[in-house]
Amino acid sequence: LIYSVAIDGPAGAGKSTVARIIADKLNLTYVDTGAMYRAITLKALEKGASRTAEIINIAEESSIEIKKGRIYLDGRDVTEEIRKPSVDQKVSKVACIPQVRQRLVKLQRKMAENYGVVMDGRDIGTTVLPDAKYKFYLTADIKVRAKRRYDEMLKKGIKTDLKKVEEELAERDRQDRERECSPLTVAEDAVIIDTTDKTPEEVVEEILSHIKR
Ligand code: C5P
Repeated sequence: LIYSVAIDGPAGAGKSTVARIIADKLNLTYVDTGAMYRAITLKALEKGASRTAEIINIAEESSIEIKKGRIYLDGRDVTEEIRKPSVDQKVSKVACIPQVRQRLVKLQRKMAENYGVVMDGRDIGTTVLPDAKYKFYLTADIKVRAKRRYDEMLKKGIKTDLKKVEEELAERDRQDRERECSPLTVAEDAVIIDTTDKTPEEVVEEILSHIKR
């Protein structure tokens, strides 16, 4: 049985942690769409491509695959590299180029047709999979989202500053919300979950309770 679960929300709301566990429990494939926009951004940075036409070209000719939670750009594993700060800073702009979105949305829909997915992003419930069987929108207080991002970085051995992480997150939120293309909005039929005071396990339980109903 092929069905999809859409999980949207701002950075640091807990989407990827929760989506991974849900996919595992329901035997669906986890697709991190943010990672796809990040991969195109990484390649644009590496090639020094700054013109829109060059970035569109990159999006159209690159191969992007997601296998077992890892992301491959032209066959190269870029799972770690796409998290670097230079990508964080540029991704919102790259993701705003209509032709880049068209190409990636097409790939995302194909993935959802081929295997059932738990897909996380910003526009999954509204645009990519408007007919998804289940839709969730996760939010959390900016301070808590920043702390989670900070803890994640510490775990990976990246030394940083909480205040700085919070500022960068707020800036990316602002870019995502105010940009003209695909601004972050909540699908009308999405279940909204505030994860501020919840553990990932609690959020997973809440989502599963809606799916099993
Ligand atoms: O989810 P993550 O924070 O890794 O996404 C990186 C960026 O990619 C977001 O800040 C947003 O600009 C863009 N994005 C998007 N549409 C999606 C997923 C991510 O525009 N479906």
